[in-house]
Amino acid sequence: NYFVNYPLDESIIKALDVLKYTKPTQVQQEVIPLLLNKKDVIVKSQTGSGKTAAFGIPICELVEWEERAPQALVLTPTRELATQIKEEIFNIGRYKRIKVEALFGKSSYQSQVKNLNQRTHVVVATPGRLFDHIERGTIDLTKIKTVIIDEADEMFAMGFIEQVEKILRELPNKRATAMFSATMPKGVASLAERFLKKAQMVEI
Ligand code: AMP
Repeated sequence: NYFVNYPLDESIIKALDVLKYTKPTQVQQEVIPLLLNKKDVIVKSQTGSGKTAAFGIPICELVEWEERAPQALVLTPTRELATQIKEEIFNIGRYKRIKVEALFGKSSYQSQVKNLNQRTHVVVATPGRLFDHIERGTIDLTKIKTVIIDEADEMFAMGFIEQVEKILRELPNKRATAMFSATMPKGVASLAERFLKKAQMVEI
């Protein structure tokens, strides 16, 4: 398995073996080392490139299991994507016993809040529902150190960017931020300029 060339915990390598991920895809080759080194990155790539694992693998590696508050946050436009990403991160982190929670609209707050209180390492959320949790004070974001803005162009097209900005302002400054987008409309480029630091560009 070529993934052994990265500084990854045995539990992550084992999970990748089970998933039959033996060779990193191009986007994974570019992005995994950057995120492991806590660098900001802008990635122009399509779905199907293996981008979920490109951020899922470093997220799982960087999780400190003992920490009780969420450490990584993935923002994504739809409930379907949130569910898929949650599953992929669960699969990658399963032998490290990483807990992932997906937050999206039209599902009960109560169960989301209950899970958030039971040591959630990674939160995958649509912007609207996450913002509701912030306003209600039902989520602790003080320990977030890795942030992924997934499908930024879609979130822009759906009018979510203002909420994304509000969320980014609530997060600790000392963090790594990665933005994934298939296209780079002005609004997305401007968001990156304002919220990412010395970001590396990766184009696949
Ligand atoms: P994504 O672009 O994240 O939607 O991933 C596209 C598909 O590629 C998914 O079905 C993944 O399970 C699969 N995949 C991701 N990384 C790898 C890899 N390194 N080797 C084989 N399949 C992969």
